Amino acid sequence: MLDSGVAVLSEFELIARYFDRPAPSAALGVGDDAALVCPRAGAQLAVSTDLLLEGRHFRAGADPRKLGHKSLAVNLSDMAAMGATPRWATLAIALPAADEAWLAAFADGLFALAGRYGTELIGGDTSCGPLAICITILGEVPSGGALLRSGAHPGDDIWVSGELGSAALALAHPGIAAAAQRLDQPEPRVALGEKLRGVASAAIDVSDGFAQDLGHILERSRCGARVDYDRLPRAAVWAQLRDPILERRCVLGGGDDYELVFTAPQEARGALETLAPDLGLALARVGSIVRGDATLALHDAAGRPMIAEHGFDHFAR
Ligand code: ADP
Ligand code: MG
Repeated sequence: MLDSGVAVLSEFELIARYFDRPAPSAALGVGDDAALVCPRAGAQLAVSTDLLLEGRHFRAGADPRKLGHKSLAVNLSDMAAMGATPRWATLAIALPAADEAWLAAFADGLFALAGRYGTELIGGDTSCGPLAICITILGEVPSGGALLRSGAHPGDDIWVSGELGSAALALAHPGIAAAAQRLDQPEPRVALGEKLRGVASAAIDVSDGFAQDLGHILERSRCGARVDYDRLPRAAVWAQLRDPILERRCVLGGGDDYELVFTAPQEARGALETLAPDLGLALARVGSIVRGDATLALHDAAGRPMIAEHGFDHFAR
């Protein structure tokens, strides 16, 4: 039982009012001890979980509609990075109070994004406590067709979707509306992930910063990378800000972008160059995979080596 202190809405009323929506593609949705789903024949289930804590992943008092969007968006982004098609999600949520205006806005943000990507909420858990949101997402991918971090090969190109560093820019310059939008309501690159099946050799989504996330591909694929810093896609506004140190920190190390970094053989260049306008999403070729240990060699426009910025690590001091 959740006690709001004022209007008393029971846990079950709360679930029924805000989170129990039709889930026609599941065999059984909200309401029983577990949901039931039937993946399509020949599909593997891709399963991923993200935990968002107030004060850690979002600030206290964050707009609940944007929070509903972002809580699901980070999970959809993991599906995109696997080349999976998102299908179902569960929501575990701890709430300090049963605040109906907050719940209505949060559910609106979440279901609006879920609807756009054909994802159905099929269950969850609700408790009283410091605000925390944990979504588990299930997606489908043709058996053996998922995009792994381990598939990059020397000679492959490295590609990046959209732009890097804008979410981090929003933290430094909260007045830049386009950057704030990228931070608060990232657009998961689901359609790109699906199109990359059979094209990309490896993929990851940028949650902790380009350098760190590309580093995960390099470790898993046991190879190195050479990247041209000037080719890394970024917002046009940087040209006016004239702050190259902040720019470098955001572009290389800024988290929360939820763009895809992927590798692909050079033969895929033509296909990727036509894919970008089809999706209405810029794809930049930023460097290549090289033989050697898992290090990123970053070069400036003149070919001089630069030192890479590290991304975010929850346990780093
Ligand atoms: P249990 O006692 O088995 O944990 P609950 O009473 O917590 O079940 O939940 C009742 C039903 O409501 C279950 O089907 C559960 O999946 C669903 N549910 C609970 N919380 C949420 C939520 N926040 N969003 C969606 N479904 C939820
Ligand atoms: Mg429960």
